[in-house]
Amino acid sequence: MKTIGLIGGMSWESTAVYYRHINQEVRRLRGGLASAEIAMRSLDFTEVVALQQAGRWDQAGDLLGRAGAGLARAGADCVLICTNTMHLVAEPVAAMSGIPLIDIITETASTLLAHGHKRPLLLATRYTMEHGFYTERMKAQGIEVMVPTADDRTIVHDIIFNELCQGQVRAAARAAYLDIIGRAKAEGADSVILGCTEIGLLIDPKTLPLPGFDSTTIHADAAIRFALGDEAAKAA
Ligand code: GLU
Repeated sequence: MKTIGLIGGMSWESTAVYYRHINQEVRRLRGGLASAEIAMRSLDFTEVVALQQAGRWDQAGDLLGRAGAGLARAGADCVLICTNTMHLVAEPVAAMSGIPLIDIITETASTLLAHGHKRPLLLATRYTMEHGFYTERMKAQGIEVMVPTADDRTIVHDIIFNELCQGQVRAAARAAYLDIIGRAKAEGADSVILGCTEIGLLIDPKTLPLPGFDSTTIHADAAIRFALGDEAAKAA
């Protein structure tokens, strides 16, 4: 089994989901007491958020890149940035880590295409919905991402940072997200990307009025395939 490197803490609420999901899958595949080989670096999210708010993506890339290099020294064979937003700096992180980076955007795009979806609604942080890096990379794969209106983007973003990343899961937030998804469906969306690693804490992608794709479990499953290779492929 290869060792999976996780750069987490953004927020730790979703890093805990990665840790549990990866280990549960390894136990399901291998049985008994089997668990995943994982090296994790969990950052202080306040530092990362301060850099996001200041637009200091160069410094954020450096911070995460150093974390990735540390994971490589600790024996990780691959690295995952456990947040969609920070894939804005995936390139410098991959370069500084020097080990394969399993990319959440690539994995989500392949999963959507495998299911025949090309017009998804993206629910994510303001950075992911507005910065362009995410939608452009999806477009390069033939996927036309829809984003909510400006007011709805504020609602989605604020719920992520003020509630989900702080461990608060509220019915009112779920209702607000479902409202936005309902409107997107009426406007032609064919699917929904839970494009922030905490959204799966709020809504179950299987219960939506459109096919839902949770970036967290898609990303974690890609790490399992990397770690177990043929063994995971045969079980799929
Ligand atoms: N975990 C979230 C994401 O997937 C947001 C936290 C962050 O800004 O990194 O984008």
